[in-house]
Amino acid sequence: MTAMQSAPPLPPADRALFDGVLARQLRPLAKAITLIESQRKDHRLRANALLEALLPHTGKAIRLGISGSPGVGKSTFIEALGNHILDQGHKLAVLAVDPSSSVTGGSILGDKTRMETLCQRADAFIRPSPSAGNLGGVADKTREAMLLCEAAGFDVIIVETVGVGQSETMVAGMVDLFALLQLPNAGDELQAIKKGIVEIADLIAINKADIDPRAAAITRAQWMSALKMLRPASPNWTPPVITLSALTKEGLTEFWDAVRRYKDTLTPTGEFEVKRRRQAVDWMWQLIHSSLNQCFQRHPVVKDSLPRVTQKVSSGCITPTVAASSLLEAARFFDSQES
Ligand code: GDP
Repeated sequence: MTAMQSAPPLPPADRALFDGVLARQLRPLAKAITLIESQRKDHRLRANALLEALLPHTGKAIRLGISGSPGVGKSTFIEALGNHILDQGHKLAVLAVDPSSSVTGGSILGDKTRMETLCQRADAFIRPSPSAGNLGGVADKTREAMLLCEAAGFDVIIVETVGVGQSETMVAGMVDLFALLQLPNAGDELQAIKKGIVEIADLIAINKADIDPRAAAITRAQWMSALKMLRPASPNWTPPVITLSALTKEGLTEFWDAVRRYKDTLTPTGEFEVKRRRQAVDWMWQLIHSSLNQCFQRHPVVKDSLPRVTQKVSSGCITPTVAASSLLEAARFFDSQES
């Protein structure tokens, strides 16, 4: 089916974006992502129509999440893995969810000097984290950007994030396989287990194994025994623990083989598709929650009385339950949504 045949009723400017995205032209793709990242209501409506039109062309990529603490080697690794993947004829898009950029405007994931060799390759597209108002917003924009990249024919999407706060859970909720990068030293794994991150990891990679291969091997063994204590998300997949070096490129093939094995194992069992469907429904609910929340906070009655009610709750004059009910009732929140 060509772009012409499936032409949706879009205004001419967006029609050009639609055609450009499907033709994998990077400028229209970047413009389309800018449109979905915009906070303006008219842009939002256009972005929704564009996404809707492109939806039949999405879903064909393998979606890979990569996380780890600052300095663990994420960008070095993604650059090395990216080149490895591109050499095999794939088309790669790299997106980022940077929790710091939404809060402070700064960035932990760094600036555009990262992944220099990848940036220069024809079949690669690199997009830094959107700077939306909150992390939820950033994650939603990244999900949508991911769909645009898929429509553009990128068959591998990497979403990078940092091991800080909620961002890992959000990224794990939008990818097929979530990989955690770790350093070869004891203690790290316990921290990750404590934070509950290990439960969402489908693969663990011990980077910088070149520095001390023995320490890396010990760390790998520790990880493997730690993982045995946890119940795996799928009975058909035990997260592999791989030692590698983003610098010397050792272990990259093993990593990529594990990604492919993941897909090949969980596709026939139906789990791959079930996970995607569950993620789509979860995303819908997240959008509903955040829209309801915004509507509520913007309601004039709520805006007016919120500071006073908050003060009363914090000083113990009224209970949070009474406060919440009175605000919801005063705003006639649910009625106003129906009209
Ligand atoms: P990020 O903050 O997680 O994106 O980490 P970077 O990719 O910026 O890497 C942090 C530092 O670790 C850089 O100086 C890299 O050159 C170095 N580095 C990354 N991977 C490796 C590796 O496999 N071996 C060694 N020896 N150094 C590495």
